[in-house]
Amino acid sequence: MSQITKDLYASEIGDILENSLAGNRPSQEDCVRLLESDDVHLLGLVAGHLTRQKYGKKVSFVNNIILNYTNVCVTDCKFCAFYRPPEHEESYTISLEEIESRVKTAWEMFRITQVLIQGGHNPKLGIEYYEDAFRLIRKNFPEIGVHGLSASEIDMIARVEKSSTKEVLSRLKESGLQSVPGAGAEILVDSVKDVISPKKISSDQWIRIMEEAHSIGLPASATMMYGHVESNKDIAEHFVRIAKLQEKTGGFMAFIPWSFEPNNTLMQKEKTVAYSAGGFQLLKMIAISRMMYDGLIPHIQSSWLTNGIGMAQMALQYGADDFGGTLIGEEVVSCTGARSTELTAKKIIDAVKQMDYAVVERDNFYNTVQAH
Ligand code: SF4
Repeated sequence: MSQITKDLYASEIGDILENSLAGNRPSQEDCVRLLESDDVHLLGLVAGHLTRQKYGKKVSFVNNIILNYTNVCVTDCKFCAFYRPPEHEESYTISLEEIESRVKTAWEMFRITQVLIQGGHNPKLGIEYYEDAFRLIRKNFPEIGVHGLSASEIDMIARVEKSSTKEVLSRLKESGLQSVPGAGAEILVDSVKDVISPKKISSDQWIRIMEEAHSIGLPASATMMYGHVESNKDIAEHFVRIAKLQEKTGGFMAFIPWSFEPNNTLMQKEKTVAYSAGGFQLLKMIAISRMMYDGLIPHIQSSWLTNGIGMAQMALQYGADDFGGTLIGEEVVSCTGARSTELTAKKIIDAVKQMDYAVVERDNFYNTVQAH
């Protein structure tokens, strides 16, 4: 009997891990048991094995920038250190000229292949602002993919326009939007949302908007922000809700578990959360993500932004196959002081090579642009 088989037999989650190795995804109840277990290394062995079976020792990343186009927001999420109310002296909205100039500079300096566009819920911005921005980027920089606007931003635009979210999505796709990031999901359980973001769209609305996006041919990422007031049961429900939608639409390309960063947020001031979840929990979440979505959502990202490059390297052993983006210009996590570093493609390539993995640069749709 090999050591891994002996360890599996001895573990209280051995039955779930064996099922995973046999190609059966954990149930919602299994997921809670995995979250309650401290057998993180065994979880990593299994999730890492599932990942290498699919991708070998190869990792992708995307050369991208983030345009946090406005910090004006009326949604007041308690976990957010980035937003400012309308008329606040530190509020900003970047102009189309500024968008063009930032994308042009990033193209010339880094040959980026993706712009990630996200911002606050700014009631002064009509849909034309976004349509003009997307058209401009796609026309002037056809090699750069436009990945933008969370489900809750789509909802905000629909409210400003007094239109449906599906109509908004169709118009944005028409003007150049190519895929939708998963932000705004946090934890897809309304009792959690009522505490951390009571003014934001509900879990059902997030799922509905994502389904609408998938139905008109806009693929998306799915995310989870863990490490605040949620329980393990809530996390398991989040995993399963996304799995159910994916079984229906197949529209999610990747899953990204983010840890909540409390610095400079109302939740820290109110002493709801004192510190972030940390590296041990990250590895557990990465491994469980791989097991829950094995054969369902192809890519699991390493979440280097909040946990640093060293932890992201570890995440590659625990089930991640994608390093994420270089995220140049990111401002949201930076407001919590938790951003680990300014990354360049070279730093990601070096970090992956240190792990003795092959590294490929990908585009917005996970197609290989070049091998390094
Ligand atoms: S997370 Fe987004 S919606 Fe919530 S306050 Fe911050 S910018 Fe606004």
